[in-house]
Amino acid sequence: MTDLFQVKFWGTRGSIPVSGQEFDKYGGNTACIEVKCGSHHLLFDAGSGIREAGLAILDENIEKVDLFFSHCHYDHIIGLPMFKAIYYPSTEVTIWSGHLDGKMTTKDMIKKFISPPWFPVNMDICQATMRFRDFHPNETLEPYPGLNIKTFPLNHPGGAIGYRLQWNGRILALIYDIEHTPGKQDPIALEMMRDADLVVYDCTYNEDEMVRFKGFGHSTWQHGIELAKAAKAKRFALFHHAPSRTDNQLEKMEQDAQSSFSGAFAARDRQVVRL
Ligand SMILES: [Zn+2]
Ligand SMILES: [Zn+2]
Repeated sequence: MTDLFQVKFWGTRGSIPVSGQEFDKYGGNTACIEVKCGSHHLLFDAGSGIREAGLAILDENIEKVDLFFSHCHYDHIIGLPMFKAIYYPSTEVTIWSGHLDGKMTTKDMIKKFISPPWFPVNMDICQATMRFRDFHPNETLEPYPGLNIKTFPLNHPGGAIGYRLQWNGRILALIYDIEHTPGKQDPIALEMMRDADLVVYDCTYNEDEMVRFKGFGHSTWQHGIELAKAAKAKRFALFHHAPSRTDNQLEKMEQDAQSSFSGAFAARDRQVVRL
C-alpha cells in the first residue's frame, strides 16, 4: 500500500469547462489531478474536475486531503466552492500555494474567492478543518515523511508553480501553465522532467498556433516532447487541452505525439495512471 503512486485526472481542460458529444472521450472539466502516495491523498488544482474528485473522496471515506494550487486563474480554482469535502466536519483539508509569493496569503486568496458577491456565502460555512500553507517558489516541501515535493516558478502571466514529486523512488512532474521561448529549452522545465516516470505538461497549442498566441502563457506538445526526450522522461501526458479541441482533433494530436515519443498520451478525465 505504501508503494502506491497513482495519478487520476479529474479535469484535463484549460481555460474553461466544455461539454458536448464532441468532447465525450477526453472530457470537458478544467484542471484537477488526484495523486495517491501510499495512504496520502493529494489534489493539484481546483478546476471544475474537483467536484467529482470531492464526491470520490467522501465515497472512499478519506479524511485528510492536501490541495496544492499551481496558481489561481479561474480554470484552476472555479470548482473549489463545489468541493464537498470542505463542508464536512469529518474532513481535514490543507491548502498550499506559492505563486503569490508574499503578495497574498493562501488563506486570503481562498477567502476572497469564496465570498459574496461571487458566491452566496463566505468561508465560515466550511465545516472541515481547514489549514493553509504558504511557500516560496523553489522551496522543497515534505508534507509527509518520504514524500518530497520540489516547487518551481513557471513562466506564466502572474506566475505559476510547477511540482516535482518523489515517492518511493519514482518521480512525477506537473508542469502547467507554462510558456516556452521558441527555439530554447526551458531550463526549469528540463530540470523538472529529468528522469521523471510521468510528466504532465501544458499542451494547449501546437507549434502553428503558438505563433498567434505568444504571451498567453502556454506551450505546445512538440516543445514538451522535445524536453521530455532530452530529460529522459518515461511517459508524457498532454494536458490543459484548449477548450475548442474536439475528440477528433485530440486523437490526431495524440497520434502525432506518440509517433514522436512512444510514452506520450493525451490525458482524459477520469483516467488513472500508475507510476
Ligand atoms: Zn490554466
Ligand atoms: Zn493560467
